[in-house]
Amino acid sequence: MADTRTISKVYAGMPTTDGAGVKLTRMVGTAELDMIDPFLMLDRMDSDDPSAYIAGFPNHPHRGFETVSIMHEGQMRHEDSVGNSGLLKPGDVQWMTAGRGIIHSEIPEMLEGRMSGFQLWVNLPAKHKMVAPKYQDIPAEQIPTVSEDGSAVRVIRGTYNDITGPAESLMPVRILDVTVDAGANWSITPNEDNAFFICVHEGAISVVDGNGESQEVSAPSVVTFEGDGDIKLSATSAGANLLYCEGTPLNEPVARYGPFVMNTHSEIRQAVDDYNNGVLAT
Ligand code: MN
Repeated sequence: MADTRTISKVYAGMPTTDGAGVKLTRMVGTAELDMIDPFLMLDRMDSDDPSAYIAGFPNHPHRGFETVSIMHEGQMRHEDSVGNSGLLKPGDVQWMTAGRGIIHSEIPEMLEGRMSGFQLWVNLPAKHKMVAPKYQDIPAEQIPTVSEDGSAVRVIRGTYNDITGPAESLMPVRILDVTVDAGANWSITPNEDNAFFICVHEGAISVVDGNGESQEVSAPSVVTFEGDGDIKLSATSAGANLLYCEGTPLNEPVARYGPFVMNTHSEIRQAVDDYNNGVLAT
């Protein structure tokens, strides 16, 4: 019988605000969980109170990595310095390679109702940090779903059960948006060389821990694993929605300051100077 991975740690995330006052739960990128190389940050947005999201994220810069926005409920308008604009609707994904520099805004296009989704930051290696910016708007209908017994896996990036997702990235990451029905099982085999985690964002899952006991993990939580082999989990009676993120660690130095993620402090200083001089996104 193949080995099964057990829970290493469960992280509840940290409440924070970003942009013009959007309330978030930072799941990765906190004092407790700095990063899971190559994933620098994971923010969870989930509120039905318009005051928690309405101000959005007015114009701000990025350099040195990719941002992935995954919308589950609500609508967000995006515009950037490259001339791209788009409306993210439920199920849509935006994959942006900031590269050497982009300035963009992300503003909710709704006055009431629930807004929920993620923003994930994927680091870039030194050799790609200064590439030309790129942007992909991926509508929900272009994202294939692999349906199995009691589970549905939207393949955003990478391959699952021979189905490859549409997102293009400079990083060989695998991003899956997973729904597991109440009581159903789901499993996945990570590449041995990769880092990976699961973010439970609706409902709860049950996973075997290091003592062979079942441990229940409720949303919102990030779960990391230890051991070898497959990850095996089941959804509790509430069912569960998960984001699965897997990627090959870069193992490069990380210097980060707000929206800039480079390898050295002098590169960060350059990014700040370029932004202040109006040449970051030119
Ligand atoms: Mn941004």
